[in-house]
Amino acid sequence: MREFLDRIAAVVGPHGLVTDEATLEPFLIDWRKRYIGRALALVRPASTAEVAGVVRLCAAERTAIVPQGGNTGLVGGATPDASGTQIILSLSRMNRVRAVDPLNNTLTVEAGCPLVTVQQAARTADRLFPLSLAAEGSCEIGGNLSTNAGGTAVLRYGNARELTLGLEVVLASGEVWDGLRGLRKDNTGYDLKQLFIGAEGTLGIITAAVLKLFPRPRGWATGIVGLDSPENALMLLSRARERFGERLTSFELFSDLCLELVLRHFADSRAPLHTRHPFYVLIELADSYGPEVVCEELEDGLAAALDASLAGDAVIAMSEAQTREMWALRESISDAQAREGKNIKHDVSLPASALAEFIAVTSAALERAHPGVRVVCFGHLGDGNLHYNVSSPVGVDADSFLANQGTINRIVHDSVAHFHGSISAEHGVGQLRRGEILRYKSPIEMELMRKVKAALDPLGIMNPGKLLARTN
Ligand code: FAD
Ligand code: ZN
Repeated sequence: MREFLDRIAAVVGPHGLVTDEATLEPFLIDWRKRYIGRALALVRPASTAEVAGVVRLCAAERTAIVPQGGNTGLVGGATPDASGTQIILSLSRMNRVRAVDPLNNTLTVEAGCPLVTVQQAARTADRLFPLSLAAEGSCEIGGNLSTNAGGTAVLRYGNARELTLGLEVVLASGEVWDGLRGLRKDNTGYDLKQLFIGAEGTLGIITAAVLKLFPRPRGWATGIVGLDSPENALMLLSRARERFGERLTSFELFSDLCLELVLRHFADSRAPLHTRHPFYVLIELADSYGPEVVCEELEDGLAAALDASLAGDAVIAMSEAQTREMWALRESISDAQAREGKNIKHDVSLPASALAEFIAVTSAALERAHPGVRVVCFGHLGDGNLHYNVSSPVGVDADSFLANQGTINRIVHDSVAHFHGSISAEHGVGQLRRGEILRYKSPIEMELMRKVKAALDPLGIMNPGKLLARTN
């Protein structure tokens, strides 16, 4: 084994190989601390050629590779198994912006670029790279593409898949596929990049990408609306789409319980409206006109919603500080729920037309099974994506409540299936959902996925056991 590691060290240099336990430790555990693995080593190549060299050595030895970006994934996809025989391949040293082309509206970056660095590079070129999520300071673009990340601007700009024009990938054989094309039209056969996007590292290693840039908006307007029900939120969404067109950038829903948890666990937070409402929507518009024009637009739109009794109350941010405060409310929900105690997360998507009924039916089913259970429901309503998380009833120990995870997942996900939704909207499958997808995807779809895996990774060394359960 020492000899194998020496050969890896010869490829990546002394800074590229980590085997001491203390340095390895944070790479062996996932963000939510639900999965802990072991690893032969952490390998940190600094170039595509070095990644290719490492993969060739691993293929020769049949050593499994677990790619890791910022390790912020929520499904255990970047955590090695317990065998201690896998290597973790961190892309963090590959963090260069290779090229900016403002005329073509593209950016070419290496996979280890933190998402904030990509956003900043776009801003420096007076452009926008719209992918945005609460983990953006830590997650890396390679991880974002491998999970097909969503976030808060999907409604207008699409998810990571829709923001990618080209990829460079080290294949499981150690060969390099240079697909770094910056073309918006290219009908020369199968769109291979789409296989690697959202593949969670199971088909190859993304080493670089050509990303789409957009004009940078000059004015933003942000508001919070209090509502009686998800039905009203959906009606407001429909009107907002009609009225604001593509200026509508974000439409985020959260329930009053979400707000209550944030107020309880974040001392400097405060309720956005004078009175409390069962649900709230954070709505944001962005435009190439100045902020006054967009603010006026939003004001008029929300006034019309109040007149139509769709909304109970509404407030618009009058300063950047207020805008940040509004977003902080929305983005602190996950943390606040975690501070309340361990919980059972669901990241589901549904057709907009089924969302309200899904919430009503599923919450009633959970209440029947576990009286007093607390559903912490929030998410990207504009994308049909709910984070439908379940906390223990007040007074019930959160850790012991987790014993119900299997039955609660079954109630929620069977309901998702009933309404023709998906059990993973943006977080992926990883280890967390690899068993469950067998229940919700058809055998023929699973078989097609296994065939793709076998074709691109015949030795089964690319992140085995993630997304697809092991068959041997
Ligand atoms: P990692 O966690 O390191 O890896 C994720 C997966 O990708 C693993 O399977 C890994 O093996 C694989 N991988 C990583 N890099 C590569 C590569 N270069 N080549 C091949 N495979 C690779 N997600 C959303 O979609 N929307 C959100 O709004 C959102 N909000 C979040 C908020 C918080 C506070 C946190 C902690 C997470 C959030 N997430 C969200 C989840 C997470 O941030 C995303 O999944 C993110 O895209 C993961 O990026 P990462 O670099 O941390 O990847
Ligand atoms: Zn989300």
